[in-house]
Amino acid sequence: RTVRRAARLGAPGATADGMPVALLANVADPAGAAAAAAAGAEGVGLLRTEFRFLGRTVAPGVDEQVDAYRQVLAAFPGRKVVVRTLDAGADKPLPFVTAPDEPNPALGVRGLRTAWDHPQVLDDQLAAIARAAAVEDADVWVMAPMVATAEEARDFVERCAAHGLAQAGVMVEVPSAALRARDLLVHARFASIGTNDLTQYAMAADRELARLARLSTSWQPAVLDLVAATCAGGALRGRPVGVCGEAAADPALAPVLVGLGVSSLSMTPRALPDVAAVLATVTADRCRELADAALAADGAEAARDTVRAMLPVLEDLG
Ligand code: PEP
Ligand code: MG
Repeated sequence: RTVRRAARLGAPGATADGMPVALLANVADPAGAAAAAAAGAEGVGLLRTEFRFLGRTVAPGVDEQVDAYRQVLAAFPGRKVVVRTLDAGADKPLPFVTAPDEPNPALGVRGLRTAWDHPQVLDDQLAAIARAAAVEDADVWVMAPMVATAEEARDFVERCAAHGLAQAGVMVEVPSAALRARDLLVHARFASIGTNDLTQYAMAADRELARLARLSTSWQPAVLDLVAATCAGGALRGRPVGVCGEAAADPALAPVLVGLGVSSLSMTPRALPDVAAVLATVTADRCRELADAALAADGAEAARDTVRAMLPVLEDLG
């Protein structure tokens, strides 16, 4: 209980034996950033920038974007804010970058791929992020969505560097990126695992279809293997790996992710107190035991049941 109160006050997340686990917020607009700061988030682990682009027929100009990003950064002075570049396509179509007639939009030109035909949209966005970062005091990191190959990671990092953005990384939400994280992380300074899409693509199960929920869960051993592979790549290259998908908000799964090697968790702000509370009761070693138990379980449901049984603290949560 004391830990939950501390989380609201912004105390840094940590395991019972003091291993830091940054507890960050997923944010979709300036109002969300203010709310996340008030909820005690240590920073922003995922700023979804689509809010300035959705419902428009042309991309917003650089000045307008600078203004929007500054509002978000201003809510987290001196703190880490990870800005994700535009993730258009699939569930977020935008007329100026995505084609309306793709037979399979989740596998189409989405995320970073939209920059192949529309490089100026990405360059304008990076210019705006760099300008906002230059005037605000936040620690700004930038990452691209839907990166699938090491070449894409290298190109993205180079483009960010051209704008003076040194902390450039990749989202890992495509199985190819997880399996070859060791290659992507030669270039990328960090990885942030998007478990929503990573689960969708690992299980070939549309994340929007409730009918497929038994497949579309990050408790699936195959998904946990992909998280482990990403963390192994991060350890090999000395780069941090975080999670910013919904899995991070599950108070039973969060310590499993930490046990797999994840060093930051970004989530909807309302999940922060429970995740902080659970982490504060388990040591780093115990997190590894939870991860081993989940990986050894016979399926997603068994993994979840086994881990929950090992975490009686979950029953104390509101
Ligand atoms: C994800 O895929 O897990 C993620 C964080 O990105 P989004 O939900 O915006 O696709
Ligand atoms: Mg995603």
